[in-house]
Amino acid sequence: MMHTLPNLPYDIAALEPHISANTLTFHHGKHHQAYVTNLNNLIQNTDLADKSLEEIIHATAKDPEKVSIFNNAAQVWNHTFFWNCMKPQGGGQPTGDLKVMIEKTFGSYETFAAEFKQAAVTQFGSGWAWLVVEKGILRIMKTPNADLPMVHGATALMTCDVWEHAYYLDYQNRRPDYVDTFLTHLVNWDFAATLLNAS
Ligand code: FE
Repeated sequence: MMHTLPNLPYDIAALEPHISANTLTFHHGKHHQAYVTNLNNLIQNTDLADKSLEEIIHATAKDPEKVSIFNNAAQVWNHTFFWNCMKPQGGGQPTGDLKVMIEKTFGSYETFAAEFKQAAVTQFGSGWAWLVVEKGILRIMKTPNADLPMVHGATALMTCDVWEHAYYLDYQNRRPDYVDTFLTHLVNWDFAATLLNAS
């Protein structure tokens, strides 16, 4: 089974001025595409060739000899997920059950946002900040490099890519500004709410 690069769920310029078409051209068209291409090359003619992306991630997560396959497979999954975590005119507060759960868990949306930003900004080097649900409980997670909640028993509801390639063309070294913008103008809470309902 060949893995393919999914289309962005919006136009390449739809997240401007917050994330430029230039950033998405590289981030989706070059970085995400490279993970897809590398994964297909690495699994060719192996017992993973006919497995789903999730099966590959779980099968390689704890195997030191398959780190490259895990990294590329996880990054394919992470990026596809991340594109859906943003939308034009996104941002602000969630609604419905998700809003109630966030307020119950963190005290307020503002406290949640501050803690999420703290996780995103303090992830040393490359990685991801996440809102996850685990056994019915919401929590914030951060992971290095390609690591992701599904191999730690948690279900991802939302993520922010904090690899430099996600923001450097638009924000240079200002990761805190990028994360603020992500929460204020981009995050797609409808997507997270759908995942919470399905969890
Ligand atoms: Fe990325």
